Amino acid sequence: MIVFAAAIGGLLIAGFEHIRKPFREWLSSEPAETARRAKLAVYVSAFILSAPVIAFAIYLWMLGARVLRAQQFPPPGFRVIRDTPVVGGSGATARGHVMQILAVNAPRSTEELIMKIDGGCHCGNITFVADIDPEKVLICHCTDCQNITGTAYRVIVPAAKEELTLRGGKPKEYVKTTAESGTPRVQAFCPECGTPIYSTSVDERRVYGLRIGTISQRAQLRPRKQQWCQSALTWAIDLRSMAQVEKQ
Ligand SMILES: [Zn+2]
Ligand SMILES: [Zn+2]
Repeated sequence: MIVFAAAIGGLLIAGFEHIRKPFREWLSSEPAETARRAKLAVYVSAFILSAPVIAFAIYLWMLGARVLRAQQFPPPGFRVIRDTPVVGGSGATARGHVMQILAVNAPRSTEELIMKIDGGCHCGNITFVADIDPEKVLICHCTDCQNITGTAYRVIVPAAKEELTLRGGKPKEYVKTTAESGTPRVQAFCPECGTPIYSTSVDERRVYGLRIGTISQRAQLRPRKQQWCQSALTWAIDLRSMAQVEKQ
């Protein structure tokens, strides 16, 4: 070890001795020429020092561009949920990690964007499975939701048409036309037990609003947003102050 350190030291001293002489000669030439050379030396060393930073910035920029391209034009078979290509496998996970690095609000991994759920009505006549985005669970305080559910508010999670599979009996559909926007909306429920199953648009049925109470995994589906708060029942906004008992 000592021998090794001595060898390195010797080499450094020898190297220094080797460059000291030409450096002295370089300094002792004409003052104006020295100033010009010193300026050049500063520029060159500044460039050498900043080159890795510039290279890393270019690398990050190209990486970002690649991720954005992958988002806009996902490879065949990739599904796009919330503008992020989602698929199983290492490619998707890698992209998820890149997204995480580049965006503050990116999900922790692409797998977390989708959640497989299942559920059904109370009597078991209608069941369903779906892939949903748990970040999109919301509470609706509109008066229609209060009235149709018969309770204080409704908790909804949207599922794309192609992500939802309904099984068993055919839901009965009621079209409500009382929305402030005037847009009619299909409200489907089990004809046997009356459990609400979904809502969707009348014509182009691209998204189905599932009712959280029918979903087996509902305990994990924490709402992220409340809408139509202007018609919310004031007590329903905060239930914590109410007396709590384990059972009835
Ligand atoms: Zn039923
Ligand atoms: Zn509503």
